[in-house]
Amino acid sequence: MSRVGDVVHSDGTAGGEGENEPEVDWDQAAEQELWPARSGPRFVDVALKLPLKRLFTYALPEGACVQVGSRVRVPFRGKEMGGVVFALREDSGDVPPQKVREIVKVLDEGGDGGGVVLPKSLLELSERMAHDYGCSIGEALDAMLPAAAKARGKKLIPHLDLGVPHEIAHEAVEKLEDQGHGERARVLRAVLEFGGPMPTLQAKRQTGTSDSPWKTLCKHGTLKRIDIPEDAEPLVPDLSEAARDVQLNDAQENALDAIGGAVDRKEHEVFLLHGVTGSGKTEVYLQVLQRARALGRSAIVLVPEISLTPQTVGRFASRFEDVAVLHSGLTDAERAKQWRRILEGEAKVVIGARSALFAPVRDLGVIVIDEEHETSFKQDSTPRYHAREMAIHRAQIENSVVVLGSATPTLESYGRAKRGVYKMIELPERAGAGTQPKVLLEDLKAIAKDETIFGVPVTRTLRNMIQERLQAKDQVILFLNRRGYSPVLYCPTCGDSVQCEHCDVSMTWHDRKARLVCHSCCHEIRRPEMCPSCEAPGLRELGAGTERVEQAIRMVFPDAIVARMDADTMSKRGAHEQVLQSFRRGHIDILIGTQMIAKGLDFPDVTLVGVISADVGLFVPDFRAAERTFQLLYQVAGRAGRGDKPGTVVIQTSCPDNYAVTAAANIDYRSFVAQELQNRRLTGYPPYARVLRILFESKNEREAKRAGEALVGELQGLEDARPQGPAPAVMARVKDRYRFHVLVKAFTQEAFDQLMERLRDVEDRSTRSLRVLLDVDPVSLM
Ligand code: ADP
Ligand code: ZN
Repeated sequence: MSRVGDVVHSDGTAGGEGENEPEVDWDQAAEQELWPARSGPRFVDVALKLPLKRLFTYALPEGACVQVGSRVRVPFRGKEMGGVVFALREDSGDVPPQKVREIVKVLDEGGDGGGVVLPKSLLELSERMAHDYGCSIGEALDAMLPAAAKARGKKLIPHLDLGVPHEIAHEAVEKLEDQGHGERARVLRAVLEFGGPMPTLQAKRQTGTSDSPWKTLCKHGTLKRIDIPEDAEPLVPDLSEAARDVQLNDAQENALDAIGGAVDRKEHEVFLLHGVTGSGKTEVYLQVLQRARALGRSAIVLVPEISLTPQTVGRFASRFEDVAVLHSGLTDAERAKQWRRILEGEAKVVIGARSALFAPVRDLGVIVIDEEHETSFKQDSTPRYHAREMAIHRAQIENSVVVLGSATPTLESYGRAKRGVYKMIELPERAGAGTQPKVLLEDLKAIAKDETIFGVPVTRTLRNMIQERLQAKDQVILFLNRRGYSPVLYCPTCGDSVQCEHCDVSMTWHDRKARLVCHSCCHEIRRPEMCPSCEAPGLRELGAGTERVEQAIRMVFPDAIVARMDADTMSKRGAHEQVLQSFRRGHIDILIGTQMIAKGLDFPDVTLVGVISADVGLFVPDFRAAERTFQLLYQVAGRAGRGDKPGTVVIQTSCPDNYAVTAAANIDYRSFVAQELQNRRLTGYPPYARVLRILFESKNEREAKRAGEALVGELQGLEDARPQGPAPAVMARVKDRYRFHVLVKAFTQEAFDQLMERLRDVEDRSTRSLRVLLDVDPVSLM
């Protein structure tokens, strides 16, 4: 069998014309009957994007030219599908050769520059991913390939546009709602609000719908489908504050020495760069990258999708000429173009979100993962891989260095660094300008009546401080990690609140669009006139989201220029950059937002950060709830005082004694970790155990629960492993499906490996009515 990297024509010649008849082994020909034997591979093993964990053997047509890593189209159960050649072989294995079907097409033939042949290292990585996360190699490869590389030649992007005037579309939304066509109403509304032709895929994603609602709307003429040619929509790097060369401070210099040294020596090594916000981590990455580039080696920088802004990209693009940016805003064609640039060695520095890890660079010197604690590095659909773990595997394969950077590393990474598995490097101080902000904790349990403004708690201290900043022409960030107007609409008569009819969650009131919205399944309804339970009139808003905060702040500070940044205001293309740019230019006084504004932003004139409530998310029944809260508060506090002026942070909370809150207030990672490690040890969670989560979903509650019980029964009596549950997931019912999960903790690596062997195929228990999902090292128990 030929190995990865061989180029072989099916007629056995190595890239030649194939004119000369090769030597024929007639004995073998006789044995194989139908096949006139030629030497060299006639068959290929292909990985298909199917949950089936095996490769499929196909025959090569006459004259076909394939390599390991080539993409092909093959017949499968009456359909055609794409796949990747994983191995070349001379025989057809267990299947009689005459039964083996031929591949339909080799996609990368023809030398049109579009050859997307996966490098060997990525094929190896896909095997690793399949092994570690219990998916098939085809599914792993699918996650690694950019969409357009999978379906090349697609030049038109389907979009949806209004087929009728605006007002009529508005009326249609209401009508559809009244008739109970909620999904159609949502799609139509999304297109209305998008303000132009909306990519069909985005409309579907945003509304959580399938194809049928938009198709019906098109059939009725309310929407029309238009195909817009893909045109590049690159994320234009903002070079306005292009990184000037800075003189590294001592701590940065030490970091560069250690990491750069490993890059120079081409040694595989993982570094945890633990540096407080503003300590100059990015500057270290940049200079490490320069070292790698000086040696002619490539680099990949992963940042959370949310931090992939023109400013971030600009910092990298201003130092390197050969940068490729991969982000979710790219069209498929643009993504494929970037991919090809990388493949052809034109771009050697790649910056992007999670999947940029699979950029086909060669001679990879270093992978940087900035904000390594971000949960967005874990994919939340199959294959549920973690980019950090995959980065380390890739770096092992390619002898490269990994730099994990964070002010608030995950306990897993911190633990590994403490044990010497990773090299720990600390940057304890802010670099250049800026000192750590002063943090005040305000107890919400003790606030006076007049400190609640239109349902939003704003303590006198916070209010006065905002006033001062406005007078001084400084800027303010107000943070609340909850969008909408109020998370609950409740009945003062019976105490019930309006629940989603499909999910076990309260519906969130959105005042601006006058709708109750389920944040779990996107279901929307009009505000009921009376309580759905007791029919009393007068439902009331309870609690606050960012929309309500905006309203209150506008009332109290009528002269301030206020902007809000959350998923609701940011659905239009480019809105995110626009707001950030206005803020940067000082056109906005107060920026209100969810976690979107908590991270990575560097605005020197922000001297006050107010946390409206630190408690959102603190009591979610997830072992990472405290860690998540701490990280978020710590990060948002880090937005204050990044310039010459000192910053202040006001954190309002009902739990001023909670260790996650107090540690964040003290900007003290260590004390948080010490406490949290103790809790994790007691409860047996990571880093003291590895967790496997198996989720059972069914419209039939008993079916889901029973399947969980059966699994727990099977897993009794294992050494160093403990199954727990089944228990309702944090979201106990979503879209009419009941959700139970079993958590299995493994306390040793051996126990984990054994468990993984037993559970690798657990998803195969899925039936028509039951969905079984395996999540290795889950980052969320939602
Ligand atoms: P981090 O990534 O750790 O949050 P950054 O790299 O963004 O920190 O640096 C924060 C600020 O400090 C930036 O404005 C950066 O230009 C500046 N900075 C970084 N290193 C130095 C240095 N050695 N001297 C002066 N300023 C620096
Ligand atoms: Zn719902």
